[in-house]
Order: sequence, then structure tokens, then C-alpha cells
Amino acid sequence: MSLPPWSLGVFTSIDAGLGVHLEVARDLNIPSIQLHTPHAAGRTPEAAEQFLKKLDSYGIELTCVFGGFDGESYADIPTVEKTIGLVPVATRSARLTEMKEISDFTRLLGCNAVGLHLGVVPHDVNSQEYMDILVVTRQLCDHAMHNEQNIHLETGQESADALMQFIGDTQRSNLFINFDPANMILYGMGEPIPALKQVGSHVRSVHCKDATWSDQPAITWGAEVPLGKGQVDMHAYLSTLKEIGYLGPLTIEREIPQDRERQKAEILHATELLTQLRKELLGGTKAS
Ligand code: MG
Repeated sequence: MSLPPWSLGVFTSIDAGLGVHLEVARDLNIPSIQLHTPHAAGRTPEAAEQFLKKLDSYGIELTCVFGGFDGESYADIPTVEKTIGLVPVATRSARLTEMKEISDFTRLLGCNAVGLHLGVVPHDVNSQEYMDILVVTRQLCDHAMHNEQNIHLETGQESADALMQFIGDTQRSNLFINFDPANMILYGMGEPIPALKQVGSHVRSVHCKDATWSDQPAITWGAEVPLGKGQVDMHAYLSTLKEIGYLGPLTIEREIPQDRERQKAEILHATELLTQLRKELLGGTKAS
């Protein structure tokens, strides 16, 4: 299956808290998904086969599988630094092993992109801590390369400058970016549109999410809000995606799992907004 330009997508999960259930994509006629990885017990060949059957029967294409780990918390920015991704030292080795398993499971799902929040990369590029994160990222990239996959780093925890420097420093050809404009605002890491222009050559997947700035950027969270209601200028966002030549899926992310009905309604509204913008910016592409 190959998707038309700017096909709509939604961030889903099977058994984790993030994202919506697959049935939301089916109910809203959304043709593609990204998937938050299931827990270890759900990453079997049988589970992969069942999930692929379901996707096939719903007519949905899987475009990226995101890694995630027990013990991660997005409670506030300092907690993110302590708990997210491959950065925390105490869990790094176990999580690298788990990311490799997630890459293997992604291969069973026939998908060639694995995403993750790497964590907050140390700012001093001459420090041992920075070198250590380069090493673990290279190990993950090399494993993914063996599975014929790219790794997509989710944006937000670094400025565009720092992210491009880091990707360059890894010296790996399969390391790319999942651009999330709202995260740039939520984490206070820079205006999303200039950031997108800066990292554009490395963007291979995107989230469509919106947010408002904190009154203390990079110290406290901004607020995630429904698409079109925040400070990501969605028209400018899609215009810039067009400018950098990105025509892949527009994957809607809305993280309010405590209110599933509202989440679904807001995703529906987001699909309408994106469909309208796509029509305006790409012309008469068939809605899907
Ligand atoms: Mg995101």
C-alpha cells in the first residue's frame, strides 16, 4: 500500500497510556497510524500477525512504531530529564536492549521506521555524558540498520541547533527526525516554524499537535491544546512542510487519555482542519 501525499494519520497504542485506540482511526476513516509499542508480553510474532490482520481489515497503514519504557514520566520538565528515553544512566543498558527488541517487533510489523524520545541530551558536546549518548544512539541505529529501518527522534527536548549537531555527531545515515511542533513550545525549545526550516532535511515523519507557551519557557510546561487552538500556526506549519518537500503522513497526536470521548471529538476536528489546509495548499488531492 502506498499513501497519497499528506495522508492523515493518528498516534495510537495497543496497551499503553499514550495515543488513541486503533478503533478511533477506523471510526474516523483515518488511513494511517503511528503506534506506541505494546509492552514486552505483547511483542510476539503471533501478536504482530493479529495486529497486521486487523490493520488490513480496517484498511490502515502503519507508518512508524514508537518506543517507550516503564518508569517514564512526563509529569514536569525536571522529571522528563530524569526518566525519559536512553539518557538516564541507571536504565540505559536495559532500555537499549528493549529498543532493539522493539525494532525487531517493528520489523515483524513490516514497518521501516522506529521513533523515540531519546531523552534530554547533555548540552556540553565535549562532555563524557554527551559522548556516552552518542555511543548508545549509534548502537541503536546500527541495530535498526540491520533491520532495514530508520530511527526517528521526536523533537522537543533540544533546540533545533542542538538536535542537528547531535545527529551530525552520531555519523549514522539512518537517523532522522519526527517533528512535533507543539513539543518545541511545550518544552520551550524554540519557535516551531523556524526550527522546522532548520531541521527540514532530516524530517521523515511529523506530529500534528498544538500547544501554548508557558510563562516560564523551559522551566515549566506549556499546555497541550486542540489542533488550531494553540500557538503553532497550522497554516504556516503545513506551508513549511510543503516548502521542505515533506509529503508524508500528517499524524495527529492528542494526549488526553483521561477523556477518551473528548479526545476522539478533537481528533475529528483536527482531521477537518488538516483536510481543509491540504486542499488549500496541495490543491485537489483526494481526501483520505
Ligand atoms: Mg509528539
